[in-house]
Amino acid sequence: MPRKKTGKKIRTEFRKRHEERIRKNDVTRDFADKPELLADVHQQERVSGKGKLTRKRTIIGTEDDGADSENAFELQVDSEKSLAGVVAQVFGLTSIVRVADGTEYRCTVKGVLKSLANDYQNVVVAGDRVTIVLGDLGSEANQGVIVRVEPRVNHISRTSRKRQQIIAANVDQVLVVASAAEPMLKPNLIDRFLVSIGQAKIQPIIIINKADLVPNEDLQPVIGVWSQLGYPVVLMSTVTGLGLRRLHSVLANRNSVITGQSGVGKSSILNAIEPGLQQRVGTVSSENQKGRHTTTSAQLIPLARGGNIIDTPGIRQFQLWDVVIDELAGFFRDIRPFINQCRYPNCTHTHEENCGVKWGVADGKIDVRRYESYCQMREGDEY
Ligand code: GDP
Ligand code: ZN
Repeated sequence: MPRKKTGKKIRTEFRKRHEERIRKNDVTRDFADKPELLADVHQQERVSGKGKLTRKRTIIGTEDDGADSENAFELQVDSEKSLAGVVAQVFGLTSIVRVADGTEYRCTVKGVLKSLANDYQNVVVAGDRVTIVLGDLGSEANQGVIVRVEPRVNHISRTSRKRQQIIAANVDQVLVVASAAEPMLKPNLIDRFLVSIGQAKIQPIIIINKADLVPNEDLQPVIGVWSQLGYPVVLMSTVTGLGLRRLHSVLANRNSVITGQSGVGKSSILNAIEPGLQQRVGTVSSENQKGRHTTTSAQLIPLARGGNIIDTPGIRQFQLWDVVIDELAGFFRDIRPFINQCRYPNCTHTHEENCGVKWGVADGKIDVRRYESYCQMREGDEY
């Protein structure tokens, strides 16, 4: 019997927007009981040399590098047996796929798709939207096969042995967490995150935690500059609860990655969002430390109010540069408009005379701290 080609029919939305609490993740529960394994080995990982700007691919990729378009597959599928879902996590050859009602299926990848995998790259990653076909009745429950992978809107990746490794797909936003004090606020570090997240075409959200430790008026000048550039800034304290309501609305129905220096309060924030969330995030790390698989495995953790936190063992500390140095200025929203006033087309906006950017700084149109942040990044200064 000829098989039907379903075409657009199965391109339905994979997750309803306002659904209720998704069923507890059963499949990975086995790994939740070893909190001592959550040590931060991966957190120290540096992905691109010494924090300098390099041409290597690092954590965040873009949609226009060709990789994503290759990721759309059309296979012939019997639509009656197929379900749309999202990849919650990948363990080697097995992917956990979550469908609209929250049920999770352990899936293999259909053979013809597998040929696209290699040592560095799984065919699917957390966040991929897929179509699965369930196993026949009588076989083990909650098993299926991934028969189709939708094109990715964007992805985050890192460099592993000079090759790009995609960690997660379809990321709506990255929460850049910093603290107002302890450790002290490092605005230039936040600028770095803004550049790398921006060039990956992902929305950055700046979270300044520990606002209880510093008078509000001390924070306003630096926050004001980012806000004026259109970056959302959430001032938070997990101690007083400040900003929590706003954070909930930021997270709702979106796939969010959390990043930021150690000690700024990421774990505390996760637990403020939902009790136990940090521990659920930790299940990924323990899985990795047992050495069950070598690739970094991201996990999509459903939130009660809709949306997911995407966590990976390494991503929270990644320093993510994927910017060609001469394109850096273009990723500074405030500097970019002045570039075409420079005398030399290859102006670095540092030592040159007749530089539109430097005029912009002199005229007070570009914030001096942001300009210094740009210069520091150009030089590849370490933090
Ligand atoms: P992580 O390394 O980013 O996950 O940071 P943690 O969540 O482990 O927090 C580091 C330290 O900061 C802990 O001692 C927390 O109790 C403390 N902390 C977290 N949030 C706040 C906050 O809003 N205000 C204050 N004063 N301390 C906080
Ligand atoms: Zn210039």
